[in-house]
Amino acid sequence: MRIGVLALQGDFALHARALARCGAEAVEVRKPAELEGLDGLVIPGGESTTLLKLMEAWGFVAALAEFHAEGRPIFGTCAGLIVLAREVENPRQVSLGLIDVTVERNAYGRQRESFEARGQARLDGRPATIEMVFIRAPRIRRLGPGVESLAELRGESVLARQGTVLVASFHPELTDDLAVHRHFCELVRRARVAA
Ligand code: GLN
Repeated sequence: MRIGVLALQGDFALHARALARCGAEAVEVRKPAELEGLDGLVIPGGESTTLLKLMEAWGFVAALAEFHAEGRPIFGTCAGLIVLAREVENPRQVSLGLIDVTVERNAYGRQRESFEARGQARLDGRPATIEMVFIRAPRIRRLGPGVESLAELRGESVLARQGTVLVASFHPELTDDLAVHRHFCELVRRARVAA
């Protein structure tokens, strides 16, 4: 199983390490042509405005719409969630719209208000306690009807999925807990079987 990590900006190296620990081959992606032959893609955290500008400049917007339409799973964390969302607030900004959620940027506070938490998740039909690191994280304010929440913090969804698109407002790659990456790998495996 080959899973790409978008390596334009942000903390892509730790995602690659987590995927490798789950048994997948992790591939850094810097050009749309490098999406070829991949079974899934992770869009890491960073700064969503910068990330989106780089994605537009390199031709990733159309390439990812196609990647998604072909049924290949995409996992966005933090800034990655923001670029995948249908609607972005604080401030409003364009995004790829591949998952029907509304997110509010930086809604858990500033850099120094970053925090860690443990939360209950439901992954592959099983309850799991997961470690969550929030860094200038976006808040998921609205979930569309086709979106399933897989974990909550203080009553709000922090991990959600719509079909083959998985998003987290926190950074699972910053802990040793592989549960969320394992869940994504499982999504990728199922999508391959279906294809
Ligand atoms: N605050 C960033 C943004 O709005 C996201 C932060 C992160 O990815 N850790 O794009």
